[in-house]
Amino acid sequence: MYLKSINPATGEIIREYEEFYSDEIDNAIAANYEAYKIWRKEPVELRAQLLIKAAKVLRDKQEGLAFNITVEMGKNIVEARAEVEKCAKVCEYYAQNGAGFLKSEIIPTEASLSYASMQAIGPVLAIMPWNFPLWQVFRFAAPALMAGNVCLLKHASNVPACALAIENIFVEAGFPADVFKTLLVRSSKVEKIISDKRVKAVTLTGSTPAGKAVASTAGQHLKKCVLELGGSDPYLILKDADIDAAVEACVAGRILNAGQSCIGAKRFIIADEVYDEFATKFTDKMRDITIGDPFDETKDMGPLAKSSFREDLHRQVESSIGKGAKLLTGGYIPNRDGAYYPATVLGDVQPGMVAYHEELFGPVASLIRAKDEADAIRIANDTVFGLGAAVFTRDVKRGQQIAEEELDAGCCFVNDFVRSDPRLPFGGVKESGYGRELSHYGMKEFMNIKGVYIK
Ligand code: NDP
Repeated sequence: MYLKSINPATGEIIREYEEFYSDEIDNAIAANYEAYKIWRKEPVELRAQLLIKAAKVLRDKQEGLAFNITVEMGKNIVEARAEVEKCAKVCEYYAQNGAGFLKSEIIPTEASLSYASMQAIGPVLAIMPWNFPLWQVFRFAAPALMAGNVCLLKHASNVPACALAIENIFVEAGFPADVFKTLLVRSSKVEKIISDKRVKAVTLTGSTPAGKAVASTAGQHLKKCVLELGGSDPYLILKDADIDAAVEACVAGRILNAGQSCIGAKRFIIADEVYDEFATKFTDKMRDITIGDPFDETKDMGPLAKSSFREDLHRQVESSIGKGAKLLTGGYIPNRDGAYYPATVLGDVQPGMVAYHEELFGPVASLIRAKDEADAIRIANDTVFGLGAAVFTRDVKRGQQIAEEELDAGCCFVNDFVRSDPRLPFGGVKESGYGRELSHYGMKEFMNIKGVYIK
């Protein structure tokens, strides 16, 4: 069996990669496990130095890595370069802060000394998606390696060149052989890998069905997992919002990565008093979004990552229109090669429509009218998802209160669009998953937080 790199801008097969045979998988896990025994005992200073070197390799190879990303999944080259830079930043963040996060926490008891000690646990399997093919991996790998764990990567089947490039970055940075191993395998091989006794935990970023399958296997083998799944982030536009600023942030949050982001702005819940103004200004801006060759820096969006994703998205749009949603712009398959889809706005979205309930993984915005603030909060939470959310209001104190206390989501922003930041915890509630990535919380997910008591 082969994993195929297909350029979504042209449909051309760039290269085929032979999938690993069972003995290759076994050898990789064995080597990773052996590497762990040494790596976990290396001083944190050395791990930090190597992460700094990884950041340098990323920056030195930025253009080539960005090229790989754009060719394999269609992201605009400007965004691809920014993704590589973000990976360098997360390596530096854990290099600079990791030792502090790993310090024992003294907990006074009647003992002469008692504390919580942070210990690595071993090989962690990362099942990763194609939408940010470098960033999703580095945000897991940087804290994991800093903590003394080792990494096995099962990347999405459509980005094998990125998967192999990531392993090479760690090799070039001087990490010991085998602390980071890429396994070129399809998802059908994952169950066996999770069940391997040498693999201690698993993290998955991807769809909710994939998360359920992985959590179930991890559960059978009593292995910890972190799940970062889909989302349908609500953006609340309250009646006192600065509409022009909100429109800017909402368009940016919707079209980033051609809309293929778990924390993309997806449902815009707008107070009745400002619905028409917001809808007009937002639709005007979405209409101006250009699509085209992802290597053309003047274009706003490239194609979607696969033509099947575009077909699924278009079906969701058509079904919603069939149930009464108003097509304000976009909503058609362009007459050209490549998996392109235009920036699309659906107005008057209501319960019962696909656009109200499901995640739309592409540049499609759903506008929903709310009677008032309480109704907007109710609609925001009327979803199985709970990843990110945003509130737009001039009353910052009230915005903060809604963000903190009212919205069922793992991260909430006030007057800006949601994005991940190495310094802040990232993750979801409800069917958006559990566990946290990034910050010190992310690092501690895969640690044995050991209680030590000395009489
Ligand atoms: P998937 O969830 O299918 O793929 C993500 C990763 O999980 C890939 O590595 C995939 O491997 C793997 N995977 C899929 N099914 C299983 C399984 N049963 N057991 C183990 N591993 C599995 O996402 P898709 O690429 O199909 O995208 C579909 C939808 O997923 C999107 O429309 C979006 O809703 C959501 N998604 C969310 C992302 C996020 O950032 N949270 C990122 C990407 C997608 P393989 O490629 O070999 O199938």
